[in-house]
This record gives sequence, structure tokens and C-alpha cells, in this order.
Amino acid sequence: MAVVPKVVVIGAGFGGLEVARGLKGAPVDVTLVDQHNFHTFQPLLYQVATAGLSPTDVAHVVRGLFHRQANVRFRQGTVTGADWSARTVTVDGQPDLPFDHLVLAAGATVTWFGTPGAAEHGFPLYTLEDATRLRNHVVERFEAADRDPTELDRGGLTFVVVGGGPTGVETAGALAELFAMVFRKDYPNLDVSRARVVLVEMQDHLLHPFKASSRRHALETLRSRGVDVRLGAQVASVAAGSVTFADGEELPAQTLVWAAGIQANPLAAALDLPQGRAGRVTVEPDLRVPGRPGAWAVGDVAAAADRHGSLLPQLAPVAMQSGRHVARQIRRLLEGRPTTPFRYRDKGIMATIGRRAAVAELPGRIHLRGALAWVAWLALHLVTLVGPRNRASVLINWAWNYLTWDRGPRLITGSVRRHDL
Ligand SMILES: Cc1cc2nc3c(=O)[nH]c(=O)nc-3n(C[C@H](O)[C@H](O)[C@H](O)COP(=O)(O)OP(=O)(O)OC[C@H]3O[C@@H](n4cnc5c(N)ncnc54)[C@H](O)[C@@H]3O)c2cc1C
Repeated sequence: MAVVPKVVVIGAGFGGLEVARGLKGAPVDVTLVDQHNFHTFQPLLYQVATAGLSPTDVAHVVRGLFHRQANVRFRQGTVTGADWSARTVTVDGQPDLPFDHLVLAAGATVTWFGTPGAAEHGFPLYTLEDATRLRNHVVERFEAADRDPTELDRGGLTFVVVGGGPTGVETAGALAELFAMVFRKDYPNLDVSRARVVLVEMQDHLLHPFKASSRRHALETLRSRGVDVRLGAQVASVAAGSVTFADGEELPAQTLVWAAGIQANPLAAALDLPQGRAGRVTVEPDLRVPGRPGAWAVGDVAAAADRHGSLLPQLAPVAMQSGRHVARQIRRLLEGRPTTPFRYRDKGIMATIGRRAAVAELPGRIHLRGALAWVAWLALHLVTLVGPRNRASVLINWAWNYLTWDRGPRLITGSVRRHDL
């Protein structure tokens, strides 16, 4: 009986799912491993953190995605290493997984840039747990201020967001909206107008990859909605209850959201793979990892480049396209054909600022701003969401929020704090 090649895919994010899907019907056994039993739609995590959506709206059980694909098995577990001579992957506390092809699709994680106190006191926004923890904390700060308004003098309702990229802009805009639209009604005895959202960006503009007109639109919109945008500012250190800026100012603040930078998943180092800038795994033009036969890397963890040699951005479309590409390459190798280089088809960039406000720069020099860009942003995210149930649920939630000026899940569940604020 012919031996069926084994493909192990590490990570059920955008990239890993596309590798597994792309191998549908191929003569291979695919094992998809993830530390969670669900896929997370990261672009909408900030809406979970700001009570716009429920965690279940942006997550999908991985097993449920492969009912009709017989050659995929799912294994929940955390990959910790690999034995390259035995060609096995180590999964924490479980039997090793043998592989002929190993695809690393483990994504990225937060980097605190060595800022003292940031890791201890800051809230990152990369996982569903991060988003739920932040939502719990935000709502809990309002409950605490409602019980004792002197909390306001101690920065109880000052929310500092670090990083003026799309995630920082989206989070700051959504927090300002939550306070003005919803908490104003939820806490009638509290002076909610004293709640502050401070967006801190080191450069002299927001939304770095966008054109100047889009950056300006984001800045003006956020300021008009009450966000205190500080450009050319830098957080020097963070303590329990305060944030100190590089110019020496100490701001009482009990919440710091860190949206400032990412690095490749440290698993790349644990697997002993060659790494470049920000830990991203070095790849050949076809996305194979040099010096590691049978190894591939896709998505945020990979240092894939365009035809001019510039690193591709860490975005969902890059992860999806690179995942599909690797699936095609494995098929080609099985058929005895040579591999082809990965070519990214640029789908443009978008960022939402809040209700009826977004910027979108699409292929063909189509630049949208305001309500039209916002509708385009909503449509794109609905289409990209994994699973029809999630799409329907998100659509209903968005329509409800838009029509009623309300938000649903502003719950405090489970543990509130990750530190001693
Ligand atoms: C808050 C936020 C907002 C974003 N907004 C946008 C946006 O608007 N548009 C856009 O295009 N992109 C956006 N991105 C980026 C986009 O989400 C990423 O580019 C994309 O998720 C990368 O896909 P990936 O498959 O490489 O990694 P991921 O989607 O991160 O998936 C990695 C998977 O690997 C698993 N994993 C990690 N380590 C292990 C391990 N040791 N063992 C087992 N499993 C492991 C994780 O659980 C995860 O499921 C955003 C990202 C964030 C964090």
C-alpha cells in the first residue's frame, strides 16, 4: 500500500486554514494543530474589547470547518519544538507528530519594545482572551468610578492607547464611541464626559501605511469625537495607575492598551528556523524555509517578500494568499512538478475610525473616506469572516448597534484584571 505523505500545519489562523483547505482532495494526510480549538478573526477583536461584538461572533470552532474534508484531522495542542532529523513535531504533553511537510502558520505576537512596566500593566490585543480581558477591565473601571467618583482623579476613566496604526485608531475610536453613546446612558450618576481616550503615536502622523489625505481624515475624525491624539509622543514607562511620557509628563491612567508593534511568534526560534527582522522566518521565493527540507512558512510569521524584495505586510490577505500558495506547491511537488514563486495580489488597505467613518485605499487608486469607506470596510469584513453563522450574527449585531446607538455584550465575565491596577 502506498504511503500517504503527512502534512502538519501549525496554526489555524488565516494562513493555516487556507493551507488545509487548499489540500482538499490531495493525496496527503493533513494534521492541523492549534493551541485553541477555534479560529480567531483578529481584525474584529477590538469590537469584542469595546463591547460591539461577542467573542463567539469572531471565533469559529476549527473542527466545524472540516466536516467535508476527509484528509484533515485537527489536534488541539501547543507546539513546542521539532526534531528535524526524526522529522517530528513536539506537541506539549502529547505524542510527537511525524511530518513530510511542515507548514508554520503560527502568526505574530506582541512586542513591548522593552518599555518598562508595559508587559506587566498593559493590555495587548492579539487573542480572544486579550479582547475579553480588556472588555472586562473597561466595564469594571466604569463600575468602580460609579461606586466611587474619586476614581476619576486617579485615572480610573483615562484610557491610553499606544500605537497610531489601524488597531490603535480603531480601538481609540470605538472606546470614545462606547463612552459617548452607551456608557453615558448606563451611568447617569457619573460624569462620563470626564472619561478620556488618549491615543499616543511616536511618529508625526497616524496610519503610517496610508496616504496623507487618509491620515488627516483619521486624525480630524478622532479629534472631533473627543479622542486626545498625541503625535510625536512616546510612552517611556508604565506603572500601576500611571503612564509616563518621554517628555516627563506623568498621566494618571488605569488602562493602557498596547497596539504598538508585533513580532513573529517565538515558536519560530523554538523550531530553530532562520529568522530575519522582527523574528520573521526567512523564506525562499516559493515560501520554503532554506536549510529545512519540507518546511514552509506562511502569514505573519513568514518574511515573504514582493518581487522587489520588500517585506510583505502582516495582513490577513497576505496570510490567506500565502497559505493557498503553499497548498498549491505541495500539490505540485507530489505531481513531480517544480515549485513557483509566491506573488501577492494587493487588495488594498482599510481602517475604520468609528460610526460612518473609515478610510480605504483600494487597487486602481480608489481612495475612499467617510461613510462610503465605512460601508466598504463593513462589507469586506463580513465577507472575510469565517462561517455563515458568524457572518449572520455580526451583521445583526452591527445593524442593531447602528440603529439603536446601543451595544450588546458589555459584560464583566471571569477574571477582570491581569495585573494590580
Ligand atoms: C487586533 C488586530 C487587528 C487586525 N486588523 C487587521 C485588519 O483590519 N486587516 C488585516 O488584513 N489584517 C489585520 N490584522 C492582521 C491579521 O489578523 C493577521 O495578519 C493574520 O491574522 C495573520 O494570519 P496568520 O495565519 O499568519 O496568523 P494568525 O491568524 O495569528 O493565526 C495563528 C494561529 O497559530 C496558533 N498558534 C500560535 N502559536 C502556536 C503554538 N505554539 N502551537 C499551536 N498553535 C499556535 C494561534 O492560536 C493562531 O490560531 C489584525 C491583527 C490584529 C492583532
